[in-house]
Amino acid sequence: MSGMLYLCATPIGNLGDMTPRAVEALQNVDLIAAEDTRNSIKLLNHFGIRTSMTSYHEYNKIEKADYLVGQMRQGKNVALISDAGTPAISDPGEVLVQKCQEEGITVTSLPGPAACITALTLSGLSARRFCFEGFLPSDKKEKAQVLAELKEESRTIIIYEAPHHLVRTLGELQETLGDRRITLCRELTKKFETILPTTFSEALSLYEREEPRGEYVLVVEGKSLRQKEEERQASWQSMTVEEHMMFYTEGGMDEKAAMKQVAKDRGVAKREIYAIIHGKGMR
Ligand code: SAM
Repeated sequence: MSGMLYLCATPIGNLGDMTPRAVEALQNVDLIAAEDTRNSIKLLNHFGIRTSMTSYHEYNKIEKADYLVGQMRQGKNVALISDAGTPAISDPGEVLVQKCQEEGITVTSLPGPAACITALTLSGLSARRFCFEGFLPSDKKEKAQVLAELKEESRTIIIYEAPHHLVRTLGELQETLGDRRITLCRELTKKFETILPTTFSEALSLYEREEPRGEYVLVVEGKSLRQKEEERQASWQSMTVEEHMMFYTEGGMDEKAAMKQVAKDRGVAKREIYAIIHGKGMR
């Protein structure tokens, strides 16, 4: 019989957040695949776990997934841990999970800390609808595309960032999204945990005075319906009535329906639009 894969979440700072279930699993599996074995040995020593470890990281994730699947096929149980938090959340893991699914190997997850959820719950921003962006891409073109998508995002947005890129990222977010509310969640679960509800512009002026330090999660307010409506209104105002009509007729509306919509957008009576486009009124 094949063994199985256990995804074990580990603390993001406070060792007290390790779950008893994760300790038990790590003690009982045959092999632990860890992102950085030198880092994870400290965690294992703290909990008296003696199970052997092997490395599984960004740069060996494809070949190593084959090896680990081979081990599970031979009946061994494997646990996957990352440096901190939940494996596969901005950490290697996805490839191994996919490979196990393809090979019919059972995967289970032992939930626990994840910086994104911890930050969201502390942000004071809407947690009803949210999206997780992880790290923004480093490639300029890809990043510009992601930022353009985020501009229209109405859900709360969660972003990971390293301290030495924080100011650059805040600047890029402000430039694309406009000034917005953001909660900076720093050093979560650690001694210097700081939750700072602020705006892009305020945060940027703060970091002109002091250097960002520690680990950060950025929780950004989504675009509100009011903002969307204001932008829609502003776009009509820069158009002539004819251009506004054309916007709808070229989109497939007949003249009557377009006239009704244009009147509604501009907050005027339909007959006023009629008069303008049939040359009986002012523009
Ligand atoms: N797998 C992890 C999780 O479940 O959250 C995330 C790993 S990702 C490589 C590391 C990033 O997570 C950091 O750059 C930071 O943005 C965020 N992070 C991790 N621990 C954190 C903490 N204690 N406080 C704030 N952010 C943290």
